[in-house]
Amino acid sequence: MKQNFVKKVTNWGNFPVVTKKIKAEDSLTKIKEFLSENNEVIARGNGRCYGDASLAENIFSTKRLNKFIAFDRINGIIECESGVLLSEILEVTVKQGYFLSVTPGTKYITVGGAIASDVHGKNHHSEGCFSEHVLSFQLMVENGDVLHCSKEENTDRFWATIGGMGLTGIILSAKFKLKNIETAYIRQERIKAENLDEIFKLFDESEGWTYNVAWIDCLQRGKSIGRSILMRGEHAFRQQLPASLAENPLHIKRSAQPTVPFFLPGFVLNNLTVKLFNLLYFTKQNKKKVENYVDYESFFYPLDIVNEWNRIYGKSGFIQYQMVIPKENGREGMQKILKTIANSGNGSFLAVLKLFGKNNPEAYNSFPLEGYTLALDFKVNAKLSSLVKELDDIVEEYGGRIYLSKDSMSKPSLTNYLKNVNSPKFVSLQHKRIINNS
Ligand SMILES: Cc1cc2nc3c(=O)[nH]c(=O)nc-3n(C[C@H](O)[C@H](O)[C@H](O)COP(=O)(O)OP(=O)(O)OC[C@H]3O[C@@H](n4cnc5c(N)ncnc54)[C@H](O)[C@@H]3O)c2cc1C
Repeated sequence: MKQNFVKKVTNWGNFPVVTKKIKAEDSLTKIKEFLSENNEVIARGNGRCYGDASLAENIFSTKRLNKFIAFDRINGIIECESGVLLSEILEVTVKQGYFLSVTPGTKYITVGGAIASDVHGKNHHSEGCFSEHVLSFQLMVENGDVLHCSKEENTDRFWATIGGMGLTGIILSAKFKLKNIETAYIRQERIKAENLDEIFKLFDESEGWTYNVAWIDCLQRGKSIGRSILMRGEHAFRQQLPASLAENPLHIKRSAQPTVPFFLPGFVLNNLTVKLFNLLYFTKQNKKKVENYVDYESFFYPLDIVNEWNRIYGKSGFIQYQMVIPKENGREGMQKILKTIANSGNGSFLAVLKLFGKNNPEAYNSFPLEGYTLALDFKVNAKLSSLVKELDDIVEEYGGRIYLSKDSMSKPSLTNYLKNVNSPKFVSLQHKRIINNS
């Protein structure tokens, strides 16, 4: 019986949902065949981008490219196929004293997705993007040839592919460097900030910390605009850990993971519930500053604790709006953005603020610019596109841009920044939308 590969596909925001051809293969011959038989192809990893970046007329799923190739335990260098998840890498390497040099806020993304979006973590100011630690990768290009790309070989393709959102070819495998850790724990400080001035000051004072991130209550107004909690952290040394953890420092205890069993009705998440959540989150910490040790999962991946949490936004889905504003304009721009969100009443209970450091100029397709980046979730509803338009106008006024890995409706002047990615073979729905609207 002939298999039908046309299916409903959507990414993490459940918006948009499309019906397209999607196929997974694990042999080079079959992948090459897929490329020669189809145009408008894009690779898809684990679909953890929020919008339409890994959707296309013909989607090549890397789910079957899931094998480890080598692990050099002396130098902490790992080589694996592109569909391997960061969570699978951590399962193998943490107990051997290695951690990802850069990780986003979920471990359920693939290595291919990490390179194609050139993901950033809480350590952008200190350790850059994922690409800073990539040594090489194998890329299948338009005609099915496989190129070995690194800083020395096929350098044009190497740099265009980093942050290139899958538009330069299919990454088949990659080799990259991990960092040494003595324990699986983080020494964490959580500091409350009453407003934007205070949180900006805290970011400046925390530059010497490896990891910095703030949760921000985006519904506050007036003097309390920017009320937030800064979380800063360092990988803990064994001798720092309390005795109960120091015994087995590279192992963490895991409890059962709850799952959101179905899409919640749209009315559950509204302005009132977001306000309530924000109040509880802020007041749960009653001291100005708390210091403790937490395992790496609680520090880096708090959202991964609940499976399928994206269903709380209901069937119509949600978007994540992530922008960056250059540092010199950051304070004023961010104030305007937060004011606009509070006035819109379209609150986001997951609002994350970070301060990016300088970006590697060679990685010209990477999203980060030195400055403040804010990421917020918004439920899809009738008012959303006008809010996005208002926010886009502010981001543009202050010289910022939008993260392609999160975008599904921003204006092209803020998203059309990729260079050297114009292949007629590799075309995503996102890229088509941006080009057609430019
Ligand atoms: C809860 C959550 C938190 C997040 N936090 C962060 C964060 O802190 N920082 C950050 O940078 N991002 C963050 N993200 C976004 C996420 O890290 C990126 O979207 C990532 O690219 C998703 O990887 P994926 O494997 O799911 O790829 P997909 O979502 O399937 O694809 C993402 C892009 O990569 C391309 N791609 C995937 N695999 C390949 C391949 N083998 N070859 C060529 N191109 C490929 C696709 O074409 C697409 O353009 C977060 C996402 C979630 C859901």
